[in-house]
Amino acid sequence: MSFTVAIDGPAAAGKGTISKAVAAEFGFGHLDTGLLYRAVGAQMLAGFDPIEAAKALTLDQMQGDLRTPDVAQAASKVAVIPEVRAALLDFQRAFAMRAGGAVLDGRDIGTVICPDADVKLFVTARADIRAKRRHAELVSNGIDDSFETVLADVKARDARDADRAEAPMVAAKDAILIDTSDLSIDEAIAQAAQAVQAARG
Ligand code: C5P
Repeated sequence: MSFTVAIDGPAAAGKGTISKAVAAEFGFGHLDTGLLYRAVGAQMLAGFDPIEAAKALTLDQMQGDLRTPDVAQAASKVAVIPEVRAALLDFQRAFAMRAGGAVLDGRDIGTVICPDADVKLFVTARADIRAKRRHAELVSNGIDDSFETVLADVKARDARDADRAEAPMVAAKDAILIDTSDLSIDEAIAQAAQAVQAARG
């Protein structure tokens, strides 16, 4: 039996942490769909055509160091290309239907990839809070960009993701909103788990 949880929202709102925790708690598989776009973005930075790269994407290309600011910006640039999004669609939909349940996190899961998902969450937080979290994460990974640079990057990516014509980042009408600005990680996870539990009945 499939059971799909769609978790969307902007960068560094806590989607990844919540998705992993929900997947672990309910025994579901988890797909971080941002990694697909990051892998294509990294291919573009390496000089390849993003559309061809998306069509031929391999699991190997999704490993490695994709969590850098440069790759994040490249990901949001290739993500505006309709042919790139189309090439990544089937893989995501197949994952969503896997037996035993699936959590997918991204920007357009509840709106485009899985409009019939059993649970839809839109996880957000204020931009300054998200930038603070991302900055701390980068520093702990040895990347010492300034807070101002990280905030500007977060805002640029938000704008590109929300304003694009194809599959813009927006909460699905039937999504449950979780604002993590003033929540602890445990509180945010508890809210998400509660929503999943309620939908499972
Ligand atoms: O979630 P993450 O920050 O890794 O995503 C990187 C970029 O990939 C986003 O800024 C967005 O442009 C793109 N993306 C997308 N649709 C998704 C997931 C990510 O357009 N479902």
